[in-house]
Amino acid sequence: MVSRVIPVEPFDLVVFGGTGDLAQRKILPGLLRRFTDGQMPPDSRVIAVARSDMDSASFRARVARAIAETVPDSHRDAGSERAFLERIDYVMVDATGEAGWRDLAAALRPDVVRAVYFSVAPALFGPIAEGLHRHEIARADCRIVVEKPFGQDLDSARALNATLAAHFDEKQIYRIDHYLGKETVQNLMAVRFANILFEPLWNAQFVDHVQITVAETVGIEGRAGYYDAAGAMRDMVQNHLMQLLCLIAMEPPYRFDPEAVRDEKLKVIHALDPVAPGDIVRGQYNAGNGQPGYRDECGDPDSLTESYIALKLHISNWRWKGTPFYLRTGKRLRARASEIAVTFKEPPHSIFGEGERWKENTLVIRVQPNEGITLNVMIKEPGPGGMRLVDVPLDMTFAEALGAGGRDIPDAYERLIMDVIRGNQTLFMRGDEVEAAWAWTDPIIAAWQAREDRPQPYEPGSAGPEDALMLVHRDGRRWREISP
Ligand code: NAD
Repeated sequence: MVSRVIPVEPFDLVVFGGTGDLAQRKILPGLLRRFTDGQMPPDSRVIAVARSDMDSASFRARVARAIAETVPDSHRDAGSERAFLERIDYVMVDATGEAGWRDLAAALRPDVVRAVYFSVAPALFGPIAEGLHRHEIARADCRIVVEKPFGQDLDSARALNATLAAHFDEKQIYRIDHYLGKETVQNLMAVRFANILFEPLWNAQFVDHVQITVAETVGIEGRAGYYDAAGAMRDMVQNHLMQLLCLIAMEPPYRFDPEAVRDEKLKVIHALDPVAPGDIVRGQYNAGNGQPGYRDECGDPDSLTESYIALKLHISNWRWKGTPFYLRTGKRLRARASEIAVTFKEPPHSIFGEGERWKENTLVIRVQPNEGITLNVMIKEPGPGGMRLVDVPLDMTFAEALGAGGRDIPDAYERLIMDVIRGNQTLFMRGDEVEAAWAWTDPIIAAWQAREDRPQPYEPGSAGPEDALMLVHRDGRRWREISP
């Protein structure tokens, strides 16, 4: 089957922070792919904005270098690249001053979709929102895209929401969480709500437990200033893992519509129980494998920030009462792997006798790498020799099924930017969701700060601290292997 690419309407996309890492590594190469695939109409334009003084030709040369570094040769096409680069202009604007705003206003067309990507530090959200209004760039239908981190606690998230709300309606604001742009994450909703098979079993009566894992092999990589003030809870759990949890646990929305989906996600966050200190394990990676430890990297020998966290959560509602959700995320772990595993309960009675090996049915939604969905089922071991059972993965990897071979699955950023142009907010966080997530996170962090909790050291390349294993073992369960 050939995937259908439906072009979006022509647009002007302004990228504040156009010279920055995110724009160069993700946003602009992603737009090139959409252009090459015919989804970005040729009369669309990208207006990159930053503080550096340079002309459009120099900026295009810089983007060309970024593309060469980030896009594999097998995916490159010189003709498309040339045509795409011609769609990019550069305007110098100082977000906190007056310089450049008029040039930016003059560069935009009145009759195409207008979107502004704030790919800058959150401290600049206010000045940019204000500048866009002062210079009449923010039309009533102008969309804005804002990046994480959206605050570092409830108060700062509220303040950011208020800053944006002073200039934009909620319908114009796209708070990006790139996990929601991943193909499998959306496929999770298709599997749940487009099939009758799973939903009747999707509750505490039949689901034994859920594991959500986001494991990274990298350390904090030069982001010490940001990371040491944030830690894994703020950097990963409050946003990405929380979003995955919401999609797994939410009630069926009445329609696949932005407000309906986000209303259901919000109810999950509201139903989360506070987490007992004994249900949280925090860790910090040691030096090893020729790499520095967390404290060396962050430059603070006494840092109490966690580079790993595991939590056991409960959702207090009729559907989930009694089913634990185990979440873990960390850096410098054994492999880079993100997955959600829904483990079902044992059948009520085995007709095959005591000695027969039985393994639980587990639905694994693999977010990265090797995106795909598998369901472990028990079957009869083929061949003679009586009824022996064996568990096999039923592979629902759509990339193969749809003939794409995984090559042409758009990156999360590409998909989400196209959704912004289409005006579809379903996969973006609403302001109240972000605030609710912080309202749940804040007391947990405050409690460990008050008792000066020390993260447990763990070895680089391991599965995390020992106590994290115990968090699951003591319930008679096991973490899944972290494997690439
Ligand atoms: P960066 O430091 O590489 O780039 C910042 C950009 O902002 C530069 O283009 C710089 O010129 C511009 N800028 C700074 N001050 C300015 C001013 N006064 N006026 C106009 N432009 C100004 O940052 P980044 O890594 O690209 O990240 C951008 C945002 O995206 C941040 O909020 C970050 O937290 C978020 N984010 C980044 C990544 C990533 O992979 N880099 C991932 C997730 C979220």
